[in-house]
Amino acid sequence: MKFAIVSRGDDRSNNIKQTMKQYLTEFDLTYDKEEPELVISIGGDGTFLEAFRRYVHRIETTAFIGVHTGHLGFYADWTPDEVERLVIEIAKTPFQIVEYPLLEVTIRLNSGEKATRILALNEATIKTAEGSVVFDVQIRGEHFETFRGDGLCISTPSGSTAYNKALGGGIIHPSLEAIQMTEIASINNRVFRTIGSPLILPKHHTCLLSPLHDEDKSFLIAIDHTTETYSNVKSIQCRVAKERVRFVRYRPFPFWNRVRDSFVSEIKLDD
Ligand code: NAD
Repeated sequence: MKFAIVSRGDDRSNNIKQTMKQYLTEFDLTYDKEEPELVISIGGDGTFLEAFRRYVHRIETTAFIGVHTGHLGFYADWTPDEVERLVIEIAKTPFQIVEYPLLEVTIRLNSGEKATRILALNEATIKTAEGSVVFDVQIRGEHFETFRGDGLCISTPSGSTAYNKALGGGIIHPSLEAIQMTEIASINNRVFRTIGSPLILPKHHTCLLSPLHDEDKSFLIAIDHTTETYSNVKSIQCRVAKERVRFVRYRPFPFWNRVRDSFVSEIKLDD
């Protein structure tokens, strides 16, 4: 089997990368940065998001697993102490795959250039550095509302525990093929009105955001951990992607246990 390792780049993560690379190669696995079947991320959730971004073009043939070198990660759930066990599992045990839904974002420009299609593991957020965003929001081709505010966050079920949660969105089990749209500081008064609640859209229900009024306004579109500026935006379309992310599992770690361990269980401090 061919594998690649993405490290956060700090000394600890780099050392674990070297150790895992050496052990796995001794077990006759092949290190292949270009066409890996398994990608191991070593660092935190940000490293996992980066590993996903690097190999998203091979999403159908690549599976992911994460080791965390900081606090417990949502995606990176193996500890440095478990690295030897993980190496043996990878070398000796056939893959168990768990698949989770992704978000497809399609950005179209007024200039008519080819649309940009991006897959997100956590979410897309749309904001602007120039005042508020004003969007016509369509759901399934019908006008739903005109949104004014700081922005909108459209998340996947596995991303529902990330930025979406901080915005008051619900946590969605990733067996549900859905996306969630949450507001970032909407303007609500006697003139402007938005729904105010997070919306959960099932598969095939596309939401289309079309900027109103000011064609020159540029938007900051963050997909997971990376943000880009887009000018002259005609529309941003969001829906559940047909592709899915594949996580490798060598032991059960149910989603709700992950949620509990990340957000509810108390951490005992040493002093
Ligand atoms: P970062 O270093 O600021 O990490 C943000 C935190 O989000 C980290 O603690 C990370 O462990 C956690 N996280 C990431 N994905 C998660 C998930 N699916 N479930 C639960 N927690 C998760 O930034 P980064 O490492 O570059 O990560 C980018 C992510 O940060 C974005 O995808 C976004 O979801 C999140 N974010 C959160 C907030 C917020 O909570 N207010 C604000 C901006 C971005």
